[in-house]
Amino acid sequence: MKFDVVVVGAGPAGASCAYHLSGSGLRVLLLERERLPRFKLCAGCLSARTLRLLPEGYEGLLINRIRSGRLGFRALEEVRVEAEEDIAYIVDRRFFDHFLVKKAQERGVELVEAEFLGFEDEGGGYKVFSSKGSFRTEFVVGADGVRSRTAKLLGFKRKSSYRSLEFFTEGRLEEEVLIEIGWVKRGYLWLFPKGDGVSLGVATTGEEDLLKILGAYSNLRGLKYRHPKGWHIPFLEKEGDITLGEGRVLLVGDAAGMADPLLGEGIYYALLAGKLLSEAVLKEPSEPLRAYRRLLKPLLEELLYAGKIARLAYSFQRVAYKMGKGYALRSFYRVLKGEENYKDLYRRGWLAFLKHLTEEVFSGIFRRHERGNHRISL
Ligand SMILES: Cc1cc2nc3c(=O)[nH]c(=O)nc-3n(C[C@H](O)[C@H](O)[C@H](O)COP(=O)(O)OP(=O)(O)OC[C@H]3O[C@@H](n4cnc5c(N)ncnc54)[C@H](O)[C@@H]3O)c2cc1C
Repeated sequence: MKFDVVVVGAGPAGASCAYHLSGSGLRVLLLERERLPRFKLCAGCLSARTLRLLPEGYEGLLINRIRSGRLGFRALEEVRVEAEEDIAYIVDRRFFDHFLVKKAQERGVELVEAEFLGFEDEGGGYKVFSSKGSFRTEFVVGADGVRSRTAKLLGFKRKSSYRSLEFFTEGRLEEEVLIEIGWVKRGYLWLFPKGDGVSLGVATTGEEDLLKILGAYSNLRGLKYRHPKGWHIPFLEKEGDITLGEGRVLLVGDAAGMADPLLGEGIYYALLAGKLLSEAVLKEPSEPLRAYRRLLKPLLEELLYAGKIARLAYSFQRVAYKMGKGYALRSFYRVLKGEENYKDLYRRGWLAFLKHLTEEVFSGIFRRHERGNHRISL
């Protein structure tokens, strides 16, 4: 069978790309190896700006609205900052992703639940192999997640990712999310509402024993511990991490490592990049990669700035906590709502960061000095 585009993977990136492509009359095949609706390990937190990217009819999918955030430091200190309006929403990925696929199908996208096995360049087009037969196509979109076979076949290797564990349990959080820093070297721990319960998770780039950390934290908060599931969150933080494809085989979402390196937010970027990829294919079918790179420039820049903030914030977590307590959390809410971006945050924040860092260094020296004097007087 012949298609214009074969999209591999029916997560937010693939569904978004397929939806926008078929709206323009192209014949699109969406290949998904799981039976839909399928489980996806995810806290399901959508920043408020994500709503702008969703097709009509999503309202019933928002199971919690978030109006405030708590930032904790090693469960020793905590600050709560309320927002004037919704800053985020929680969805169940099983139904959220399926909704996006159904919207794409309504526009004429053909869904085949089969595993993508590989492709062959036929010169001018591709032959795609799946567990349910082969298909001919002009373009291949690899939206097949963090372990993307498409990316592997192109010879790309994953550069950076968070290792994460998460479980769902009983608990109640009223319209708020809790982020804890200071538990891992680079990364954080989260407690988010999930319908009538909560999700507790932790992500790190380091080697810490995450099972132990989640166990200790659930004890501390009186949460019923359940055996967590693990997965990876790939992120982009340096120019060299960017791998968007080759020829007319293009990568999007986690397959291209498009989650943000500060928080691991991936759904917003997957949806947006899926849309931009469809524009690239439609506008410049002979050079889609060039067009895609150009259209993605602001998004990639955003991820690179989130990376700069992440490197500072996770290297000096006490300073990050102090800044969050002061004003940074409010600025961050504006990013979630799409009123500001990480570049603005970084540019405005780094001088203040240096100031806090200097204070922290001096107070550390002072504390050590005090302890030293104390020891002498004993
Ligand atoms: C523990 C955890 C918590 C997270 N929390 C959040 C959060 O709160 N908010 C947020 O924004 N992001 C979060 N993320 C990140 C987010 O889940 C991802 O960034 C997002 O799902 C990326 O979407 P995607 O469409 O690129 O990939 P995916 O959602 O992974 O979809 C890829 C699809 O491809 C299919 N597939 C794979 N291989 C094949 C194949 N060979 N053939 C056919 N189909 C295939 C898979 O079955 C899957 O359906 C979290 C991630 C983790 C691990």
